[in-house]
Amino acid sequence: MSRFLAASTNADLSKDGKQHDTISINYSSNRSAYGRIGVPFTVIRNGTGPTLLLLAGTHGDEYQGQIALRRLAKDIRPEAISGRLLILPSLNAPASYSDTRISPIDSANLFRSYAEPPTASPTPSIANFIKTELVGISDAIVDLHSGGTSLEFTACVMAFLSADESYNRRVLELGAAFGAPTLVLNHRPQPNPSSLVGIAHAAKIPMIATELGGGSLSRASDVTIGCEGVLRTMNHLGMASLEVEPAGRQRVLEAKSTNCFIYSETDGIFEPSVDIGQSVLAGQLVGYVHPLSSVVQDPVPLSFATSGTIICRRALARTLPGDCLFQVGAPEQAGA
Ligand SMILES: [Zn+2]
Repeated sequence: MSRFLAASTNADLSKDGKQHDTISINYSSNRSAYGRIGVPFTVIRNGTGPTLLLLAGTHGDEYQGQIALRRLAKDIRPEAISGRLLILPSLNAPASYSDTRISPIDSANLFRSYAEPPTASPTPSIANFIKTELVGISDAIVDLHSGGTSLEFTACVMAFLSADESYNRRVLELGAAFGAPTLVLNHRPQPNPSSLVGIAHAAKIPMIATELGGGSLSRASDVTIGCEGVLRTMNHLGMASLEVEPAGRQRVLEAKSTNCFIYSETDGIFEPSVDIGQSVLAGQLVGYVHPLSSVVQDPVPLSFATSGTIICRRALARTLPGDCLFQVGAPEQAGA
């Protein structure tokens, strides 16, 4: 591409074979007046067929997907597919380099930067490139996340469901094909237009996201769930017939908007007593926060107002008021 954009690439998306390139983001700073940031971008194409957009590293401290997509970008041979893979393993590259959730340059959360002007700063420039150059040519989107430094998730695939039933069906098929142990249904009647969910919904491109563990550790088992899920998705789309373990039975949970979170109200130390993936009852003790300001004050007991399964838990013991400590998902049969 020769256009002067805030973001551009030299990769030829119509060329067969494998190209390891970058999306180049213009970024002028005190130390580099005409500087650029390179976002890793691999294109694998063979003839005609579906296009699958694969993203990881939207948040720089989420490692599992970044490993999985690097592995797939290296291992998948063009001859093994019919169609095109667009792979961005560390989408918010500045955040990945700095080991932070949001960009250290503009403090922006890439996942919610899709409505910002593309020239505002590097993070909206990356988002705009995805939105204008890649989403529209894709048949499906898989966006790999995990809990990052502060949260740990039970390995799951997230389906964002709107009021459009035919779109929902394609999203659910994608989530079932990916085959993570848990499928979490997020009801978004009007998806946020500044998020990738909203962009995919507006373009009617089915999209799923994952949460593959989290904390400051990247377990091999979570990376494997990511790799195998992508391979199953490719087979589902008809762009490959790759050998991969069949998905096991998926547990389906509903992420409600109310009563499903516990937030800290205390400046203290978080002591969870239940694990991610564990079922809990309404009112059951699930942990404490120990106030730091007093040695005589009783610890604050924690419990949910609703029964369900622990989807995620804070991965850091030190906690402040406003920190999310837990999220619980309700069994699907509890109703939307
Ligand atoms: Zn994330």
